[in-house]
Amino acid sequence: MPQYTPPLRDMQFVLHELLEVETALRKLPPHGDIDRATIDAVLEEGGRFCAEVIFPLNQVGDREGCTYAGDGAVTTPTGFKAAYDAFVEAGWPSLGADPAFGGQGLPHVVHNAFLEMMNSANQAWSMYPGLTHGAYNALVAFGTEEQKKVFLPKLVSGEWTGTMCLTEAQAGTDLGILRTRAEPSGDGSYAITGTKIFISAGEHDLSKNIIHLVLARLPDAPPGTKGISLFVVPKFVPDANGGAGERNGVKCGSIEHKMGIHGNATCVIHLDGAKGWLVGEPNRGLNAMFVMMNTARLGVGMQSVGLAEVAYQNSLAYARERLQGRALTGAKMPDKPADPILMHPDVRRMLLTQKAYVEAARAFTYWAGLAIDREHKHPSEKVRADNADFVALLTPVVKGFITDNGYECTTLAMQVLGGHGYIAESGLEQYVRDARINMIYEGTNTVQALDLLGRKVLADGGAKLMKFGRVIQELLDSHADNPAMKEFCDPLAALAGKVQVLTGEIAAKAAKNPDEAGAAAVPYLRVIGHLVFSFSWCFAAGVALRKQSGGDPFYRAKLQTARFYFAKLYPEARAMIDQARTGAAPLMEMDAALF
Ligand SMILES: Cc1cc2nc3c(=O)[nH]c(=O)nc-3n(C[C@H](O)[C@H](O)[C@H](O)COP(=O)(O)OP(=O)(O)OC[C@H]3O[C@@H](n4cnc5c(N)ncnc54)[C@H](O)[C@@H]3O)c2cc1C
Repeated sequence: MPQYTPPLRDMQFVLHELLEVETALRKLPPHGDIDRATIDAVLEEGGRFCAEVIFPLNQVGDREGCTYAGDGAVTTPTGFKAAYDAFVEAGWPSLGADPAFGGQGLPHVVHNAFLEMMNSANQAWSMYPGLTHGAYNALVAFGTEEQKKVFLPKLVSGEWTGTMCLTEAQAGTDLGILRTRAEPSGDGSYAITGTKIFISAGEHDLSKNIIHLVLARLPDAPPGTKGISLFVVPKFVPDANGGAGERNGVKCGSIEHKMGIHGNATCVIHLDGAKGWLVGEPNRGLNAMFVMMNTARLGVGMQSVGLAEVAYQNSLAYARERLQGRALTGAKMPDKPADPILMHPDVRRMLLTQKAYVEAARAFTYWAGLAIDREHKHPSEKVRADNADFVALLTPVVKGFITDNGYECTTLAMQVLGGHGYIAESGLEQYVRDARINMIYEGTNTVQALDLLGRKVLADGGAKLMKFGRVIQELLDSHADNPAMKEFCDPLAALAGKVQVLTGEIAAKAAKNPDEAGAAAVPYLRVIGHLVFSFSWCFAAGVALRKQSGGDPFYRAKLQTARFYFAKLYPEARAMIDQARTGAAPLMEMDAALF
């Protein structure tokens, strides 16, 4: 049976010692009086809910999965509904929502920390409120006043849940070819017809109503992505009193049997003249979706931070207890039949890889969460614009790099347990299966890499990347007089220089042949991922060096993990630079018939 303890010490290190969120948030008018005690209370109480209420349901959900009743109804695994009721009762759904709609208005960076713990405890369960938050974001940004009034308070309280309905059988990555139609009904509403597939939380028994955000085409829509509109389509049409009224023409046709996240219903959703209302402007539905994607993709990054953390905790506990073989330098526990496997160098590699990736990912994602807060709430227009640029640039890195690493971490955690990790009872193989989807949905990681290189770097001539380069330079300058920081600053500075050269080379080649960008994108994303993680480790090492004299072993562990990162993981960047440089020829010169 796996265990989970919310990693409060490291979360507090990131929030209070690295990011100094209390000071940073007080500069944002809605959070002028926020204090550390409130933030820590949310983490502690939220952590208790995650560890005690939803974590015990994680293996149950995996074993039982959801059940399709045959008449459009879906039953979630044992305990899911009671846990959801407790979640709503305690007010957790409203944590990060706007007080104007009944929310508690907590900053994004704090909400993010709660998401990490929810995902460590139970990713499949957490997707029900997670998707609701996505629908909430779409309506806040683009809904009419009436739509906000009708839907938002119910989504914020958790009484109703939400979904995002984009994918169709023939339209996954390429949403430009989706076919779902929306015909005006003459009363301001639309009749929506089509079939969506793979809709997470598309049907279930947790809430009284389900609010679908659906992409569809108007009758006169131009072809392609410029002809897609967004609609809000409730399962039950709200009545005059704001309650769930008559049943709408939207029904679950079946649920998928899949590799992981069994406790989350992945649904085929049939829309048969379903009543819906336009959200935002006609034919601008994809723009609306893109606005929400920063938070949604950050949310998927948090899923992998959460899974990698819980997998790490369990593999570490096992490595301390499992006795196999003797340490190469001689017995460490001669009174025992063998030494703990933690004494073996390669087991340490597997554990430290997880620790280094998880802690850097936590620092990076919380930093990105704070950047989202600044982007939306800082009084200075320049600060808002700068942070919008950081968020845009780094969102594909959060989604792509962290979910790729998260999968590697869960696989390593399983490996630490040897054969026992492969056995279902250990819980480790479930983490591997659950982590795999994070690399696929919300835009595959290939799509993230293309977005990073094409839209975020090449499209503006590297302006956003250079802005991030200046943040790196500030950190390096702040440590210029500190010889103890050289071991961390030198590799960061070296990689920043190499990124500049590599980006120029790819830009020149891609200008002549677009396949060059397509071929370089995935290794390029890993290079930028290492740039960001080098920045995170350098930043953390600076704080740890300053504080280690107090004798707290936490800081010693931080510094050792930073050293491990630069010695063992950072070198991947060099290989990825080489791979990006080899260009498109080895891929595209192969005749399609020869595969
Ligand atoms: C469990 C689960 C839950 C999901 N939840 C939701 C949900 O709630 N709502 C929703 O709308 N969708 C959801 N999805 C759908 C998911 O977002 C899509 O599966 C994903 O976007 C990829 O689309 P696809 O499966 O059609 O693959 P395809 O688009 O067919 O891609 C196949 C492969 O080709 C690559 N590829 C495609 N186009 C390009 C290109 N231009 N350049 C380079 N490579 C390319 C892809 O990276 C991928 O490797 C879910 C899927 C799953 C499995």
